[in-house]
Amino acid sequence: MPDEAFSGKPMKTQTVLIVEDENDIRELLAFNLGREGFSVLEAGDGREALSLAADKKPDIILLDIMLPGLDGLGVSRELQRDPKTSAIPVIMLTARGEEVDRIVGLELGAADYVVKPFSVREVILRVRSVLRRNAVPPEAFPLRCGPIALDMAEHAVRVDGIPVELTITEFRLLEDLLRHKGKVRSREQLLNAVWGYSFEGYARTVDTHVRRLRAKIGDEAAEGIETVRGVGYRARNDGGCV
Ligand code: CA
Repeated sequence: MPDEAFSGKPMKTQTVLIVEDENDIRELLAFNLGREGFSVLEAGDGREALSLAADKKPDIILLDIMLPGLDGLGVSRELQRDPKTSAIPVIMLTARGEEVDRIVGLELGAADYVVKPFSVREVILRVRSVLRRNAVPPEAFPLRCGPIALDMAEHAVRVDGIPVELTITEFRLLEDLLRHKGKVRSREQLLNAVWGYSFEGYARTVDTHVRRLRAKIGDEAAEGIETVRGVGYRARNDGGCV
């Protein structure tokens, strides 16, 4: 086929979890993604999706918003909350135009979205594109954002090549933001990921540590860590932040 996104099979078999209660749509996607060389998991409701995601760690999730019981937005929130699944990219399937703004705003941490009715080809293109974007081979470490380089193996952070002394908490905070570069991380998600608990009263703890982190890495580097009003923080994925 002429489109480059269709050329060749994925290097290693990548697993897609399809979450959709409408059997016809789910089976159509499963069949076509299978034919494209993906390993496919299927869930018909939100709870099943969450348990499959935590258990099987798929490379990507196609998540319908309209689901019985726990809907796609709820599933997305739960996925983000659980450190085991928070890094898995999610493509939302939506028929609800009014949700698109929130998804696009990445408030929900979605990597992309597709509006129903969609063509299967379009979905496959989006899946490949998100997987390409998310592919971070181990040798690509350190994690980078503008002048910041965070080296997991050495447990070291450098800004413009100069080592910066961070506390364990600040290091883990920065690591979490860089691992989710381009995505908004709510204070609750950060509390869960960095401190390992969630309690509303501690939300300001996150602000305090982000403030200290920014002061230590300096003004220029700190521009890469954005405050997202009313939600949390995001490591920028544009401009100088690559
Ligand atoms: Ca549905």
